Amino acid sequence: MKVCTLVSGSSGNSTYISDGTTSVLVDAGVTGKRIEAELAAIGVSPTDIDAIFITHEHVDHIAGIGVLARRYGIPIFANYRTMCWLKYYKKVEKIPEERLVVFENDTELEFKTLKVRPFSIPHDAADPVGYRFTSGGVSVAVSTDIGEVTDNIKRNVKGCAVVVLEANHDVEMLKKGPYTYLLKKRILGDHGHLSNDVSASFARELAENGTETIILGHLSAENNTPELALKTVRQGLEGQETACACRVLLAPRHSHGEIITC
Ligand SMILES: [Zn+2]
Ligand SMILES: [Zn+2]
Repeated sequence: MKVCTLVSGSSGNSTYISDGTTSVLVDAGVTGKRIEAELAAIGVSPTDIDAIFITHEHVDHIAGIGVLARRYGIPIFANYRTMCWLKYYKKVEKIPEERLVVFENDTELEFKTLKVRPFSIPHDAADPVGYRFTSGGVSVAVSTDIGEVTDNIKRNVKGCAVVVLEANHDVEMLKKGPYTYLLKKRILGDHGHLSNDVSASFARELAENGTETIILGHLSAENNTPELALKTVRQGLEGQETACACRVLLAPRHSHGEIITC
């Protein structure tokens, strides 16, 4: 399988996943034009995208879905409550109803050659999910916008070869930073975003359970730096043999990252 983040962070998120036969995006949170450009940069045509799987209705995950779905006839997959919000925001207006596919959380579905498991995550949205995709016995996962690492997340993400994992903020930077008290409370809460420290300890668990590559994503522009996120998570893996074999990479904020093959 191939995994590549196209953009990542509070100003937009989208991840490309393909098994060579079926290609999908998880979210499309920047303009359709930006997604087209990032796909072109990795040699993928938007016409090759078979579906967009939505994690939740926040704008940094859905900004481009309407344009892409209308322009290329790409179906949109989301659970019922998220789909209701997409309709409310008029993001899926003028997309034929049959191209809006509603699934149930925590239930595996088959989409062409991919097995797709949307799993519930704690975040302040209607009904947010992460995703695990499996093909040919190999699994990859996208798990960002998570307030805490729940047992359900662990169950679904452990054992995946590649994991896009949130490392949103450094707690000290956030506490000392310019955000309001309420916003800090929201981000630090168990339905907010994952800190570098918590990401590091989960990364260690993942690495000990066979994950080969962890891509750190959804970094805050104000409350984190790429260097700090990388350093914190890499330090978390130090001193453990299997963990040391695991690569930790960064998802760039405004452009596509490395294409990971697993
Ligand atoms: Zn969100
Ligand atoms: Zn987000």
